[in-house]
Amino acid sequence: MTARANILVTGGAGFIGSHACKALAAAGHNPVTLDNFSTGNRDSVKWGPCIEGDIRDTAVVQKLLCRHAITAVMHFAAKAYVGESVKMPAPYYANNVGGTISVLEACRRSDVQQFIFSSSCATYGIPARLPITEETEQRPVSPYGWTKLIGEQMIKDHSAAYGMRYVILRYFNAAGADPDGELAERHDPETHLIPLALMAAYGHTADLPVFGTDYPTADGTCIRDYVHVSDLATAHTDAVSYLLRGGANLAVNIGSGNGHSIKEIVKAIQRITGRAIPLRMLPRRAGDPPVMIADPELAKQALGFTTSLSDIRTIVAHASLQFTREVADAIPA
Ligand code: UDP
Repeated sequence: MTARANILVTGGAGFIGSHACKALAAAGHNPVTLDNFSTGNRDSVKWGPCIEGDIRDTAVVQKLLCRHAITAVMHFAAKAYVGESVKMPAPYYANNVGGTISVLEACRRSDVQQFIFSSSCATYGIPARLPITEETEQRPVSPYGWTKLIGEQMIKDHSAAYGMRYVILRYFNAAGADPDGELAERHDPETHLIPLALMAAYGHTADLPVFGTDYPTADGTCIRDYVHVSDLATAHTDAVSYLLRGGANLAVNIGSGNGHSIKEIVKAIQRITGRAIPLRMLPRRAGDPPVMIADPELAKQALGFTTSLSDIRTIVAHASLQFTREVADAIPA
């Protein structure tokens, strides 16, 4: 049993941040959300106070750390689209690198000594070997991946200089949605594979674009390790417990250890929903590695973390909740 902690959650209105707030509250902690609502949803902030503000405003972050007697920071707030980052790198560096410096500086000034960072498997680039362990060389192939790798380095340097302890979580592909239907995956515009495939299945869009069919994989489409967002949220509460009991600095993969191609995901969704998904084959999307699969062993050993909802059936069933509800709502009484 660990103590209750007041935790600043930057980006707590976002997809992963809001699920993490729910998990933190369920574990007895007090999440405090800071979000600029550039992409997050106000109605996703349901567990603890919500402050509108920008992470790059160091004085605002510092004030919050003090006012809410924060003992740990979970830093989610970031721009997070690989493809967009290739086309538009500047806002990625400004927000992700500039924002992380600002939050770290506020922590230093306020003597907040525990930090949990949303990093990404995108820091590994195109891995030489699979599955990807934490020892795999980090050589990003997208500006997004670089901003996360730079974030990791800043945290390590900050820790060495000022003694702060950290857990860096390198997420694989967040997917699914809250099993209770209290939170959904809502991005505008939506860019992620599973919600887009469901949108095509439920007739919200004409078809699903498939980016690249000539990858060196069995069916030619990209393979990803999809991890249920509620499992990801649990990794964060595990990381808090780890830091609160004095755990040493850690950088760790958070994935399921299983890979699925785009075509496999499409087939699974068709089978589960009983609906057809028309496909539109397109060229590769810039910045996409062919195969990303986590070795989840260190997360298990160090944090005691294992996935329990990250099989594709459960991910798709939970991601479908919002669509089946929308479909049900659209049927006249
Ligand atoms: N993808 C696709 N069509 C889409 C969206 C994504 O083929 O409309 C592919 C994408 O190129 C990648 C995989 O699905 O190979 C997962 O992409 P997503 O954007 O969901 O997550 P990312 O890997 O970028 O974090």
